[in-house]
Amino acid sequence: MTTIKEKPNLSVFDEHESEVRSYCRSFPVIFTKAKGSTLWDQAGNEYIDFFAGAGALNYGHNHPLMKEKIMEYIEKDGVTHGLDMATEAKEELIQKLQETILKPRNMSYKIMFPGPTGTNSVESALKLARKVTGRETVMSFTNAFHGMTLGALSITGNEGKRQGAGVSLHNTVVMPYDNFFDDQTDTARYLERFLEDKGSGVSKPAAIILETVQGEGGINVASFDWLKRIDAVCKKWDILLIIDDIQAGVGRTGPFFSFEPAGIDPDIICLSKSIGGYGLPFALMIMKPEHDIFSPGEHNGTFRGNNLAFVTATEAIRFWEDDSLTKEVIRKGEKVRNFLGSMVDKYPKLNGSVRGRGLMQGLECDVEGLTDTITCTAFEKGLITETAGINDEVIKVMPPLNIDDDALDKGLAILGESIKEVVSKL
Ligand SMILES: *Cc1c(COP(=O)(O)O)cnc(C)c1O
Repeated sequence: MTTIKEKPNLSVFDEHESEVRSYCRSFPVIFTKAKGSTLWDQAGNEYIDFFAGAGALNYGHNHPLMKEKIMEYIEKDGVTHGLDMATEAKEELIQKLQETILKPRNMSYKIMFPGPTGTNSVESALKLARKVTGRETVMSFTNAFHGMTLGALSITGNEGKRQGAGVSLHNTVVMPYDNFFDDQTDTARYLERFLEDKGSGVSKPAAIILETVQGEGGINVASFDWLKRIDAVCKKWDILLIIDDIQAGVGRTGPFFSFEPAGIDPDIICLSKSIGGYGLPFALMIMKPEHDIFSPGEHNGTFRGNNLAFVTATEAIRFWEDDSLTKEVIRKGEKVRNFLGSMVDKYPKLNGSVRGRGLMQGLECDVEGLTDTITCTAFEKGLITETAGINDEVIKVMPPLNIDDDALDKGLAILGESIKEVVSKL
């Protein structure tokens, strides 16, 4: 087990990097190396990664097969920066995505390259939905997180993040997510009432955008039934359904797309984080062909052609040629869930509950400040975990999907010891 012997010297960051920095405050060491589900710091301490780049490292750090592919590509002077020019790497990615992901699911979609980050994908989806429908507003949900640029922020719930905009965020309507009030109130019906009643003060939106499991908002899981009913509302009222699968997608919950088990049919899907496979900046916006109405260059961006990410993304999609990874995620997810459940039972002082799908699991502790103390203690013992939710009330357990059972068990054991230690002091 790792204990930090010497306090690392972070003076370069403290003096010269902006105050806005955040994760380096939670993990105050200087990292030097990363492989699979392990990170190392300058002092040689080892950390198990239950954070996985906030979901950008579903295949772990520096996956050997993807590394080999980009090394080869760089070595042969393959195009690195390509704007949106046609390149061989891009051709291969589009084909692989169509053949391995979309066709077997009977999904007929066109693929757009919106710029390299999640928020770029969301912005392009919002613009497109408005253009397709000619309507202005977009409906989003409580505790949603869709990114930090103005459009994406306007549909994000978090008050602190919204205030950072410094301008009013409008053309949106927020509705209660599944279970926002309690497990009795039917929030899908609630939403539809606003559409039905011409006195509601809510005009018909261009789109409804949602995460099937809210990542930053606290691992809030929408039921499949709720998702089906929101989908039905969209179809009935001719509203586009946008699924933001940036964090929950690419196998995080088990299936490639998080919405697959709900059997819904989105108009637009936003992907980023793990779609590049290797942790390189990359995003996609995929849409039904009938919505593909941007004129050439109407949405643009210098870094839409991150060809290194095309190469790693193509390699990563090979893991989806069969359902073995999905099965692994579900099996490991159950292990994590059972473990977290055992913590809740063993330590009533946590006032805890468990929620999540697949390897996107959360332990909510309804005691102020407790989750931060637990995750700090876990970090000192060699485990990287993050918190989520508006009051950071949820410990997020999101290891790489391909983490081996030894590392997974070891990480859970560290988390268990940390919980035990912190609870014993309550
Ligand atoms: C991370 C995230 C985004 C934003 O992605 P960035 O790459 O940080 O811009 C959008 N939606 C969801 C659900 C996310 O988790």
